[in-house]
Amino acid sequence: MEGKVVLVTGSAMGIGLACAEAFAKAGATIIMADIKKPIEQATKLVEQGMKAVAYRCDVSDTHAVEEMIKWIVSNYGRLDAALNNAGIQTPQRPMAEITDEEFDRTVAVDFKGVWNCMRYEIKQMLVQGGGAIVNTSSQGGVTGFPGQAAYIACKHAVIGLTRTAAIDYAAKGIRINAVCPGVIRTPMAEELLNNNPELEKELLRDIPAGRMGRPQEIANAVLWLCSPESSFVDGHALLVDGAFSIH
Ligand code: NAP
Repeated sequence: MEGKVVLVTGSAMGIGLACAEAFAKAGATIIMADIKKPIEQATKLVEQGMKAVAYRCDVSDTHAVEEMIKWIVSNYGRLDAALNNAGIQTPQRPMAEITDEEFDRTVAVDFKGVWNCMRYEIKQMLVQGGGAIVNTSSQGGVTGFPGQAAYIACKHAVIGLTRTAAIDYAAKGIRINAVCPGVIRTPMAEELLNNNPELEKELLRDIPAGRMGRPQEIANAVLWLCSPESSFVDGHALLVDGAFSIH
């Protein structure tokens, strides 16, 4: 990743933060984008001698995403790889009880946010002649999950989008894959588990690996998907879930 310019959205915490750290450790210049500018997180990496910069962007805002990609190109000249990772969860309730506002916001961030980012990343990658994109879907992108209809529908949509865009741009040197995390201990997962203490016990029973994943374990997969080591992997949805989804 030495010399590469990499964007990670939703990088203030959790999986995005672990991925930003992993890219930076591997020598990339990393643009850490989040809805609240992750200044402290980027500063910490810079103090350790890495190349990181914080950027504020709400991925559901098409214009803001367009401006972000323009900003990256005008400051760093190119965009070699991107992880479209920003996401939110819908409050856990059966489908018919999810409000229109909750549905609309979930779609705006978890699906349209990925759409927005991919669109402008691809436009730039076409200009420079290639790149690698990873979209964060979920184990729930290939299975269901109780009480999360809107979120799970978006995660399925992200895989459909990944596969179709991969076909559209494979011959142009742009690889597009998805990563599908299982249950990973992050602030998002903690929120879900804190609101439902029985859920953690149930999940641990159902995960063959017998534990939740660590954000760094997703980062390892994402780094590989963005590296030349995976040069013929395209349009793939990579499950990183301790065998949860096949159990
Ligand atoms: P997290 O800890 O909640 O981190 C997500 C980050 O995205 C937060 O910093 C959040 O900011 C930011 N964000 C939210 N809305 C945004 C927006 N509109 N624009 C830009 N940034 C925004 O979540 P995580 O667990 O690391 O999850 C990261 C991704 O992995 C998500 O797409 C999630 O669906 C997926 N995933 C997670 C798990 C899991 O078990 N943790 C499993 C499967 C998939 P605020 O907190 O300020 O809103």
